[in-house]
Amino acid sequence: MSPYIGRFAPSPSGPLHNGSLVAAMASYLDARAHQGQWLLRIEDIDTPRVVEGADALIMQQLQQLGMHWDGDVIWQSQRLARYEEVFAQLRQQQLIYGCACTRKEIADSAIALGLHANGQYPYPGTCRHGTDKPMRAWRLQMPDKEVLFKDRWLGHQQQNPQQDIGDIIIKRADGLFAYQLVVVIDDGDQGITDIVRGQDLLDSTQRQLCIADYLGLTHPRYMHVPLILDEQGRKLSKQNHAPAISMHNALHSLQQAWLALGFEIFPCSTVESFWASATEKWAKRFLPSLS
Ligand code: GLU
Repeated sequence: MSPYIGRFAPSPSGPLHNGSLVAAMASYLDARAHQGQWLLRIEDIDTPRVVEGADALIMQQLQQLGMHWDGDVIWQSQRLARYEEVFAQLRQQQLIYGCACTRKEIADSAIALGLHANGQYPYPGTCRHGTDKPMRAWRLQMPDKEVLFKDRWLGHQQQNPQQDIGDIIIKRADGLFAYQLVVVIDDGDQGITDIVRGQDLLDSTQRQLCIADYLGLTHPRYMHVPLILDEQGRKLSKQNHAPAISMHNALHSLQQAWLALGFEIFPCSTVESFWASATEKWAKRFLPSLS
């Protein structure tokens, strides 16, 4: 079996909730089923959303749930020098430009150009050839081509990043790096071979593959697992005030996440025995060639 390196990359904007546990569980099971490594990376790059102490809480929850990571934990906030280095490299490749557009200007020009689709406004490239106005962000050029990948859960996926999204912000004028850039740098530096995460990130994947190409990185494999929705059909998230997982009954919380992944509940009395059986069942379903 080729070496497998997976990861869980929570944003510390609050404790784990039932929704984030599903993504954590799937990535953990996939790594264990492949007898691979499972790394933990704290994605605290979006500093305004970071809640103090949430990282420690998430780590404590993972331990209590029997999800033990391999190696040292990485915090994105400690890697700014590395992100600057890559930013300078992309700039030298003339793939980055300064953008002065406000959200409203982008929406107005996308509507005027007939680019508006599903409530999303692709960036129409207004500042690509320079601007005299005060800069608000740095954008990275996206290619105008169909980018394809095969998701292990959802099958073939296709998107034209330039047509559907436009050039993407990778750094704000105030210095804050964007998730889309740093996640690719980190996955590359950590040698991640397999990304298992929630389906809310499915349509970020093509952008991330384009960045990986710019940086000369091998593409990881992807699996995007279902999200838990609230009664209004919204993704269960910290922003929507999803309650933290109940730690009084860790086994019950694990079983709920297991159900959300489409499996059936099986009898077990300890967290350890849950993981042993769940790993076997996961391997049977997703790694049939190995079992
Ligand atoms: N930090 C992201 C989140 O919590 C996950 C990033 C990823 O898995 O690529 O939604």
